[in-house]
Amino acid sequence: MFGFRLPTVFARRSVLGVVSGGSLAVCGPHYVAGGMGGVFSEDGEGDGPVDVNTLKVGGTIQLGGFTVKRMGAAGGEANEGGSPKGEKGAHHRRNAADGTLAGGFVNPWPSARDPVTSFWLMLPKLLAARVFGPKAAAPETSASAPPLRPVDFGRLTRATQTPGAMALTWLGHAAFLLSSAEANVLLDPCLSDRCSPLSFAGPKRVVQPPCSLDELDVDVVVISHNHYDHLDLDVLKKLHAKNNNIVFFVPLGNKSLLTAAGISNIVECDWWDSFSLSKTTVKTGPITITCTPCQHFSSRTAWDRNETLWSSWHLATSSKRFFFGGDTGYRSVFEGETEEGSPTCPAFREVRARFGDTDLSALPIGAYEPRHLFSPIHCNPNDAIDVHLDLGSKKSVAMHWGTFPLGFEGVMEPPIALREAMKKRGLKEDEFLVVDVGETVEA
Ligand SMILES: [Zn+2]
Repeated sequence: MFGFRLPTVFARRSVLGVVSGGSLAVCGPHYVAGGMGGVFSEDGEGDGPVDVNTLKVGGTIQLGGFTVKRMGAAGGEANEGGSPKGEKGAHHRRNAADGTLAGGFVNPWPSARDPVTSFWLMLPKLLAARVFGPKAAAPETSASAPPLRPVDFGRLTRATQTPGAMALTWLGHAAFLLSSAEANVLLDPCLSDRCSPLSFAGPKRVVQPPCSLDELDVDVVVISHNHYDHLDLDVLKKLHAKNNNIVFFVPLGNKSLLTAAGISNIVECDWWDSFSLSKTTVKTGPITITCTPCQHFSSRTAWDRNETLWSSWHLATSSKRFFFGGDTGYRSVFEGETEEGSPTCPAFREVRARFGDTDLSALPIGAYEPRHLFSPIHCNPNDAIDVHLDLGSKKSVAMHWGTFPLGFEGVMEPPIALREAMKKRGLKEDEFLVVDVGETVEA
């Protein structure tokens, strides 16, 4: 979620939206049949060079340093286009009149609702939250940012040399490096000073990244959606310029933004699209990357709300399963409503049903105040615990807090609220971890 561009109506064709939209790259409204991998495939469409995005289930292509194979959706459904029989899933927006595809996407669950119906109703609520909402850090801490520590690169190297190992390093906000023998995967690397279309305005980071981009060894980049605190185009361009073998995974509709920036090797996925990536040097088998649902929205300008898809991601090696929550809400709780009994997002229970329990998860806990505006799109710590339990996650790591001041709660409040909620619900302390920026956790 990007700063003041609050849920739903804020990014519509509103006055503020137009002002804040600025002059930035506009995402194409639909997914484009993608750039060529330029290499052979088996079981792709036709002969000759084949695009990874048009591969049939079982088809393979060489991309970056990997042999990439399109898998059937987990759970056994055919999955060319995101649903059985090639039909588009319920998250594809449709015209009410005749049910034809309208372009763009929706959250297809009762747990996702719009808090207000217009920008003009939203504005006074926002102003009230700014004036009367919680501002200061909770009294238990005087810190203004999470602790920062240097990355232990020796530990990461050991993880990549140990069969079956998986190490997760928090780079701040939703940015992580997942290290394993199968691949080094960088997730939502927003490392710029501001998460904004403008270099001089917008939410500014309160803690520096724990290392420079040049220090990171990266094979794959995974992006959850196009908000500026998750898709940092500047960083993606630098990564591609440094190593044009990197493979980029994005949800539907986001490929054109990267392609326009000169980036190649892009795999664009609908929910449940799944690809396995194998390196000839790795004997333990491939890493399988699956685009999974979550409850959020997208917008990069004032004019493109929900035209591109948002997602969480599931990454599995032969011995470990990792889940990346991206940006997600879990229930919608508005003024005068109670938390109890409100419908909850079924996506994470579905992930567990298809893949089994998760060994390690990165789940968002911040940017939740005011609750009546943010709940549809951002988990609060209690929601994050629900997601953790729905996934059957053996160990979760908190993210989406302590880096950019996005919600109106105090910067240091989310981990305190998380620990309180964990205590109340009987979770063990090492089940859901709050780590330092730069800290590594092993699955
Ligand atoms: Zn977002």
